[in-house]
Amino acid sequence: MAEYEFDLFVIGAGSGGVRAARMAASQGMRVAVAEDRYMGGTCVNVGCVPKKLFVYASGYSENFDDARAYGWKNSGANFDWPTLRDNNAKEISRLNGIYRNLLNNSGVTVIDGRASIADPHRVVVDGRDYTAERILVATGGWPFIPEIPGREFVLTSNEVFSMEAFPKRVLVVGGGYIAVEFAGIFAGLGADTHLSYRRDLFLRGFDRDIRNFVRDEVVKKGIDLKFNHQVKAIEKLQDGSLLVHDEDGSSLNVDTVLYATGRKANTVGLGLEQQGVVLHKDGTISVDDNFRTNVHSIYALGDVTGEPQLTPVALAEAMALVKHWRTGNTAEIDYNNIPTAVFCQPNIGTVGLSEEEARDSGISVTVFKSEFRPMRHTVSGNTERTLMKLVVDSSTDKVIGVHMVGDDAGEIIQGMAIALKAGATKKTFDETIGIHPTAAEEFVTMRAPVGS
Ligand code: FAD
Ligand code: NDP
Repeated sequence: MAEYEFDLFVIGAGSGGVRAARMAASQGMRVAVAEDRYMGGTCVNVGCVPKKLFVYASGYSENFDDARAYGWKNSGANFDWPTLRDNNAKEISRLNGIYRNLLNNSGVTVIDGRASIADPHRVVVDGRDYTAERILVATGGWPFIPEIPGREFVLTSNEVFSMEAFPKRVLVVGGGYIAVEFAGIFAGLGADTHLSYRRDLFLRGFDRDIRNFVRDEVVKKGIDLKFNHQVKAIEKLQDGSLLVHDEDGSSLNVDTVLYATGRKANTVGLGLEQQGVVLHKDGTISVDDNFRTNVHSIYALGDVTGEPQLTPVALAEAMALVKHWRTGNTAEIDYNNIPTAVFCQPNIGTVGLSEEEARDSGISVTVFKSEFRPMRHTVSGNTERTLMKLVVDSSTDKVIGVHMVGDDAGEIIQGMAIALKAGATKKTFDETIGIHPTAAEEFVTMRAPVGS
């Protein structure tokens, strides 16, 4: 039998890779992980963590205004971009250290550098060969920018956290998570913000009521929504600003353009094609239920294998894979009812089926909705509103979708996800006593259906 240097070689120290490496090492496996950019991957360095910090930062402008009606006299607060940028960088570097320590303390060998697969049991990093019984590809995704003239002038989420200067005027292109979150961040921090989306309503895939409601709330924040809008070309002017030309012949002058048009699997130079690893059409790696590619010793998980591209999913996959290796049982992952939040302002939180998905799959549904001005704003005068929605399977009374737009929607929906996982019915919701006064109590007090 061949003797390998490692039992497992993980490529990529992101959410999935770190978790798989640590779990495998804790089971006694000899593990190495190679990372070429940043410990902790996308989520820690240019994703979830800095994004959430920036969302906090952007919320203050409204909070200062809201505070006045509560008696606080504040005179014109000013936002200082370098302070936010540099404090964020400091926190991320602290987290990088924590991730490195976690790996070291678990007995994982950390190798800094870009890895490629030389044969089914051999990985090369900076000209040095490492052999392993199993190779796990956890290389995540990379921002995709469409081929338009002037694409070299735009930023992606990779660069946005470390911009030299904060722009006065911004165009965000895209209509998914990142575009909607960053439009809110830019606007909250004081930029004149425009969002360009190619179809008639952003956040495709979310419940239609939620999308309509968010559109209205986003407009209230002063963001200029350009739907059915396509950027044709971007020109850099002599003053350094950007002139964005659209397909309809009009143009927009801004200081920064952020492209948030999705992410592609990060597989360039990995050597997958040479090993005959099968990829899907969109470039993601094809794996079976146990995260194994068609090459027996090569596994893959997380964003590099496709949707849903969420940190908790990569973590769950890593744990399921290591458990599978330990027990020999099929990896158990339930991809149903994965809760998710979009950290726009106010937040979206959602779990389960949208009303449209439920109806399209032939389920007869009863819908409950509540829309109101949150208590905080009865005094502040802020016109922001909250929407909550339950989608119930009329034949079983099971709640199959819970959706919210409002403060802390992500926090609230996490609990709702447990209820859905446990198979809660509308009767269970009705029998649950609320916590007063909260917004969340609305979820257990919606009595009259709005439609079925
Ligand atoms: P990653 O975390 O991307 O890790 C892959 C790692 O592999 C990287 O560190 C990369 O440098 C390394 N790598 C790649 N190729 C090589 C190579 N050849 N050799 C060595 N190393 C290599 N998800 C949420 O759940 N909540 C959020 O709020 C959220 N916000 C996000 C905000 C933004 C702006 C972005 C971009 C993403 C966000 N996500 C969020 C998604 C989340 O970040 C990803 O789903 C998650 O990071 C995927 O983990 P992963 O392990 O698959 O890959
Ligand atoms: P998304 O897939 O969410 O959205 C991409 C957007 O870009 C869509 O609106 C899409 O339009 C549009 N688009 C795609 N191609 C083009 C093109 N050629 N021209 C114009 N528009 C285009 O990707 P994001 O980049 O926003 O985020 C990547 C992933 O990261 C998310 O899917 C999510 O899984 C994860 N993420 C999670 C977050 C969270 O949990 N809060 C936060 C941020 C990211 P269309 O609708 O027409 O396809």
